[in-house]
Amino acid sequence: MTQVDSVAPAFVLARDGGRGLPVEPVYEFQCRSCRKTSRAGEGDPLGAEVWALKHTRLHPEHRTYCAVTTSFWRVDPDSGAAAPEEVAR
Ligand SMILES: [Zn+2]
Repeated sequence: MTQVDSVAPAFVLARDGGRGLPVEPVYEFQCRSCRKTSRAGEGDPLGAEVWALKHTRLHPEHRTYCAVTTSFWRVDPDSGAAAPEEVAR
């Protein structure tokens, strides 16, 4: 008796530079006191860091922040991997 199994293709994980997505990571700071968030800055955290300093200057009791870095990724079949094989048992 022969049983045919398919082998799942391999996948690869890579940065997703799809249309409309930022190429570089996006940096934001969020105030942990009031949850206000800086503008998102692509590729450079400086704008978000400056926002945090200015925010504390305006609200001296707001001194803790959450730094958020976002990047986009996707999983695709590995085009270099061997094609699925039939395995005979
Ligand atoms: Zn705040």
